[in-house]
Amino acid sequence: MEIETLEELTRLSPSNVKGDWIKYLDSLFTTLRKRFVFDNLCIYKVEKANGVVEAVYARAIGRGRSKEADAPWGDDIANQVIASGKLTFSAPHKGADSDRIAMPHLFGLPLVLPSGQGALVFVRFGGPDYTAEQLSWALLAASQVTRGFEHRSLQEALDQLELARRHTRLQDDFIATISHELHTPLGFIKGYTTSLLRPDTTWDAATQREFLTIIDEETDQLVMLIDRMLDSARLQSGNMIMDFQPVRLEALLRDVVIRIQGRHKGLEIGLDLEQAAPILADTVRLSQVFNNLFDNSIKYAPGAAIEICLTADEKRQIVTFTDHGPGIPAEHLPYLFDRFYRVPDGNNKRGTGLGLFICKQIIQAHTGHISVKTVPGKGTSFRIELPAQPAAISPER
Ligand code: ADP
Repeated sequence: MEIETLEELTRLSPSNVKGDWIKYLDSLFTTLRKRFVFDNLCIYKVEKANGVVEAVYARAIGRGRSKEADAPWGDDIANQVIASGKLTFSAPHKGADSDRIAMPHLFGLPLVLPSGQGALVFVRFGGPDYTAEQLSWALLAASQVTRGFEHRSLQEALDQLELARRHTRLQDDFIATISHELHTPLGFIKGYTTSLLRPDTTWDAATQREFLTIIDEETDQLVMLIDRMLDSARLQSGNMIMDFQPVRLEALLRDVVIRIQGRHKGLEIGLDLEQAAPILADTVRLSQVFNNLFDNSIKYAPGAAIEICLTADEKRQIVTFTDHGPGIPAEHLPYLFDRFYRVPDGNNKRGTGLGLFICKQIIQAHTGHISVKTVPGKGTSFRIELPAQPAAISPER
């Protein structure tokens, strides 16, 4: 029996519970309690930032369950254990009190954690005292706790590295993308301008107009690209000032739609807009968000109908922007609003991965929220929730 518990304890590993830290400790102490009965336990650790001893995990199993929350019963002994680095016991004076909860038998073990010192403290309300055998079990549990902390700290370091690696890769991709995105319109502009300027050729008016239209469109493309880069840099550094004014979302959306339909004849747009009270918002920036969603639908869901819906109550207004295009594979959704993130596709669509990042930042600057749902093969739906009054704005403004 003892051997079984021993095996069970030593086999426990945070990786068995997918790194779920609390689950790991819960199963560790449930197993330990088969050999060593205690009422409550608490793990303390010295906070690096301020040197204060804080409870980081507490479990109440037996008597005195209500003590779980902040485990003040263990604070003193935890401080003693951490100061001395030694096993420490504390028992109440015999017969001092008939209330068991007022008679904690405490047992503290030092922990050497990756972040510094800590303590594992057990309590038995009303005794009995701890035996030498139980002490061995508790020592084993303490080493397993340390192992768990080490695992967690390694996992955190790995997560940080993975994040940094992803960031570097996105930046590398971005440089490649941006060079391509700058070269393409510049190539067109240079090519058509050189053709128009050729001294040995004369172009008829229709051809000249065609070439100039291309130059004009490609210049717009360049301006948009540079604007996005500047916006992204400003948003990243918190330097984009929002100009909040009362805005009727319904009117703003109709306005954006009229302009889009002017540019994209035949684009099917369904509107279901509730008439709602004005909200405080930056008209220019919100139009930019909706324009961006239109640009994306036109680019990634060509020919698909778009539906826009606005609903409202007194606290918030919600715009859903849905297209019936190809959708987005689920694995990309967690990163879709990240700076520079692009879904790799075989069609070489032009883009920078900045559009949705900028949308998210603008919506967040309104203390709103943007999210996406998509069904591959069926379409994509963006949901924008805006508060009637952004929290950041003081009432006197
Ligand atoms: P960009 O369009 O410059 O690549 P965005 O940040 O605007 O950058 O979009 C990120 C990615 O999200 C795009 O690369 C595209 O693959 C995907 N995406 C955005 N909107 C849609 C949509 N409506 N349908 C399908 N894919 C979309």
